[in-house]
Amino acid sequence: MIRIHAIQTGGVWIRSRQREGFGRGTMRRVHTLLDRQWTERLPIWAWVMEHPEGLIVIDTGDTAKTAEPDYFPRWHPYFRLGVRMDVKPEEEIGPQLKGLGLSPDDVRWVILTHLHTDHAGGLHHFPKAEILVSRSEYQSARGTGGLLRGYLPHRWPDWFAPRLVDFSDGSFGPFSKSHVLTRAQDVILVPTPGHTYGHLSVIVRQDDHDVFIAGDTSYNEALMKEGKIDGVAPSDELAADTLRRIAQHCRTRPTIYLPSHDPDAQNRLATRRYVQD
Ligand SMILES: [Zn+2]
Repeated sequence: MIRIHAIQTGGVWIRSRQREGFGRGTMRRVHTLLDRQWTERLPIWAWVMEHPEGLIVIDTGDTAKTAEPDYFPRWHPYFRLGVRMDVKPEEEIGPQLKGLGLSPDDVRWVILTHLHTDHAGGLHHFPKAEILVSRSEYQSARGTGGLLRGYLPHRWPDWFAPRLVDFSDGSFGPFSKSHVLTRAQDVILVPTPGHTYGHLSVIVRQDDHDVFIAGDTSYNEALMKEGKIDGVAPSDELAADTLRRIAQHCRTRPTIYLPSHDPDAQNRLATRRYVQD
């Protein structure tokens, strides 16, 4: 029996046209930055799984340090125009795990869907865990190039040396590659490029359904079903292709779809609400 908990590590506001892209290609990303409309405050979900092989955390949420005046590079247009965070110290994932009676030091694996700050910001709570990131995500997030692309590699803990995932375990449903994490073969990482090139999702296989932990493949379930890509994805085609594969997966198997910023995600998990056609 696998138990999954939703942990909300504060909130984030983004531009409406980031949640749902407007236009195509480079112009889609320009429209996101020029949009004057903010979304409502969206949750930043992280997930913890009590698995017989160990505790598994998927994404670490964000850190209260984002409130410090120089936390974000001010010269960067996205951080200047595109995003607002709101995380209190007690909302970070470490204290919340303890509130559930779980110790961050007991976490065996931390899987990061991608390395944006609202997913990697709680990494400092897990110096003892094995951390998994897709190789291409790690490569595009590091160094000056990563900073330009909107990552904060200089904020990673200095011990950060993740195990890089190459998805060498063959196809899994509509996904052409996969990485099977557990011996029980019930936690499977699949590449879901779109929001970022190296983005991955985690499929948790239960007896009669799957839980699809989606990161930022879309900002909510409706957008995934409609195939509407976001306003920051580097490639229209890759992002649309990934949404099609996820929708296909959900048609062949009862699936609870859990994106990181979907206000309804925790409810769907608690009430086992599957994606409907
Ligand atoms: Zn992201």
